[in-house]
Amino acid sequence: GVPQRREVEVVVIGGGQAGLATGFYLRRAGLVPGRDFVVVDAADRPGGAWPRTWDGLRLFSPAGFSSLPGWMMPPWDDATRGFPTRDHVVEYLTRYEERYGLQVQRPHRVESVRRADDDPGGRLLVEAPGLALSARAVVSATGTWDRPFWPTYPGMRTFAGRQLHAAGYRVPEEFAGQRVVVVGGGNSAAQILAEVSTVADATWVTTRPPRFLPDDVDGRVLFATARARIEALEQGREHAGVAGLGDIVMVASVKDARDRGVLHARAMFSRLTPDGVAWADGTTQQCDAVIWCTGFRPALRHLRPLGLRTSAGHVAVGGPSGTRALDEPRLHLVGYGDWTGPASATLAGVGPSARAVAAALTKR
Ligand code: FAD
Repeated sequence: GVPQRREVEVVVIGGGQAGLATGFYLRRAGLVPGRDFVVVDAADRPGGAWPRTWDGLRLFSPAGFSSLPGWMMPPWDDATRGFPTRDHVVEYLTRYEERYGLQVQRPHRVESVRRADDDPGGRLLVEAPGLALSARAVVSATGTWDRPFWPTYPGMRTFAGRQLHAAGYRVPEEFAGQRVVVVGGGNSAAQILAEVSTVADATWVTTRPPRFLPDDVDGRVLFATARARIEALEQGREHAGVAGLGDIVMVASVKDARDRGVLHARAMFSRLTPDGVAWADGTTQQCDAVIWCTGFRPALRHLRPLGLRTSAGHVAVGGPSGTRALDEPRLHLVGYGDWTGPASATLAGVGPSARAVAAALTKR
């Protein structure tokens, strides 16, 4: 049957790191989890997108620099001194939500957020199968993993081999003995190329020459640069941006690929052929699979009923927290990228946005 509508102060949509950090600050401001605010998540287990990433994923910064507010990520002890694994992050997020009793409601995929016309109090209705909530405010923290971005190239439909997005990639063994083309110039492409090239004949193609960070520099510099760039823009200055979140961190597997001589990117091909890819100059290469490591877009389908202005897939946001939807002041967006806060799409970077949202929602 139709679920009974429950009234709460705040609904947080998404129980990944952004939703959890928001829950942490709402709770600290005195709101009771499960009663005053509800965190809803579509997945059937904790960890946001992390359990769905590939098995061999490594963070681009050490555990001590990958923490959410309140509780540090436990140290990652690895004889090879690598960066934390995906499973270490999942474990951390699982314990984080338990530690703060955030009572994430799952699995409920929110299908719509709309204005409650019948309510003079001006509430927002949040609806998912089996769940109907009415809230004074909504925080959308749904991340990007549910919307992998595929560019369009001629011939994509006629290519007879396998095409997959990085979101669907799990382990290199699936490609053992094959010829694989890896597309994309960021960390995902570099890490996937590095491991696939241990078992397959891998070719790397990028639209721009990849930018590698120095060996002794890790993801920390990316956070610092993201913040500095935003501050500079706010003050009307220019910022060269010596490093961006797309710059490649030399994690152990990527260094190993360099040592094996496979970390060379070719220019982007111009089309796919039935059995491979072809460049504008007429060269071709046969391959069995193309892995598109071409990024993600914000997962905002549930907000459609609100009819918000968007440009390039981003909702217009502002206000003191920088997260308030300009067309719907009861809605905040957290964790999607620099447009919702400097480095807010990272573990270490989402805290300040989450704190500002909780402050905006709890100030009298
Ligand atoms: P997510 O983790 O995607 O969580 C969103 C949650 O919302 C999910 O649980 C999802 O089920 C749920 N959801 C979505 N839609 C709905 C809906 N309609 N209703 C209900 N629930 C919904 N950051 C770092 O700090 N360090 C790194 O090393 C790092 N490496 C990365 C590597 C890759 C390959 C990628 C893609 C990202 C990486 N990031 C890294 C960036 C960032 O930390 C992650 O993308 C992170 O998952 C973002 O957290 P989030 O909470 O915003 O979104």
